[in-house]
Amino acid sequence: MKEHDVQLLISDIEANIPMNLDKLEQFIDSVASRNIENSLVEKWLKAVHKNGISVDETTHLTKGMMQSGAVIEWDDNTLVVDKHSTGGVGDKMSLMLAPALAACGLRVPMLAGRGLGHTGGTIDKLESIPGFNCSLTPQEMQQQVEQIGCCIAAQNDAIAPADGLLYAIRDITNTIDSIPLITASIISKKAAEGLGSLVLDVKCGSAAFMQTIEDATALAESMVGAAQGLGINTIAQITEMEYPIGSYVGNTLEIIGSIEVLQGKGSSDTRDIVILQGASLLIQSGLVNSLELAEARMLEVMKNGTALTKFKEMCVAQGVTEDVAAKLVQEPLEVLQDSKFKTNINAYASGFISNIDSMVLAEIARGHGAGRLRFEDKIIPEIGFEIAVSRGQAIKEGEPWLIIHHNNQLSSTESELLSNCVTISSQPVELKPRLITTIP
Ligand code: URA
Repeated sequence: MKEHDVQLLISDIEANIPMNLDKLEQFIDSVASRNIENSLVEKWLKAVHKNGISVDETTHLTKGMMQSGAVIEWDDNTLVVDKHSTGGVGDKMSLMLAPALAACGLRVPMLAGRGLGHTGGTIDKLESIPGFNCSLTPQEMQQQVEQIGCCIAAQNDAIAPADGLLYAIRDITNTIDSIPLITASIISKKAAEGLGSLVLDVKCGSAAFMQTIEDATALAESMVGAAQGLGINTIAQITEMEYPIGSYVGNTLEIIGSIEVLQGKGSSDTRDIVILQGASLLIQSGLVNSLELAEARMLEVMKNGTALTKFKEMCVAQGVTEDVAAKLVQEPLEVLQDSKFKTNINAYASGFISNIDSMVLAEIARGHGAGRLRFEDKIIPEIGFEIAVSRGQAIKEGEPWLIIHHNNQLSSTESELLSNCVTISSQPVELKPRLITTIP
């Protein structure tokens, strides 16, 4: 695309008048085919980041980005569903949600990302299972979903290739935090799965990308608007992200935590969020017609072993041997990597667990290899935290509330930060549900 045409788009954005939609389409095509200079893409991104664009333009941008690559087509997509989360500490829901929904009779062609920033990526977690292959083509995704009901695959250039270049340039030009650009990036990839229904988990709080309810609501409304505009039945759930989710943070550890929940045990905080998301999709897709029944169905498949069996089938379909998969779902530590050291952090006082600063946990885990600072960084899967207490629980001074899984010694600064990142209240703590509100 020529400089003059990109400049016309930019002038419209700056003057706050509707962009020429044919030219916008040409721009996206040029980005997808890499037929445009990066400097022009950068200028366009900066104009959108600074001035914003309308809901209609965001929907067109999203649609153009979706159509820039493969789009999965289903004979009937009524029961084809997925979830996207904006990312939280200990957020491992996809690992349980995809097989649980498949066990309920829905179809889940889930695309997921690697972690960048303080929250881990679903793909990094799955790749801590020996043999697990996340590199599926759109055809392989569709075939697997038709056979067993779910897959979890890594985003790749076959799907929404325009996003690949836009995201890479956003990353180095400080233009990531733009609601229309985030919307188009996320929804174009989800729409390429050919979904009938989508649930969005928009995290809100000190350990989330969106820290205030106003910002979380604006992002949720934008994503719901674009997804609905593309014909996907979509609901956003805004959920609290202060206290880490569940009992584990880290890649291998979150696989263990997910298997515990799929074994019908494990963290109730984690299970409740899976049920919240799954029940919404059971209703949105029309498979179940009341919230009570939908929640009961989700709980049932996690208690009776059918969701765990789906998880095992998914592992085998994606390259894990039968033998490893069988051990994984019984005794995960028999096949997963364990850390060299485990260190307890003990309560500094007696009382009730009021809060844990998730950002401190995430940053220290990342420093020890659980996450990335740069895209090319290698993850050390076994690094992370076991959180031995739930919010509101009573604890005595000197009892352990955190177990660190690490391979290198902790520095004294890290030990001090960890000791102080729990808040212990002398009074019982009032527990609030994770769900703040839903949109629409
Ligand atoms: N995840 C994405 O895929 N894109 C964004 O813009 C932000 C998060």
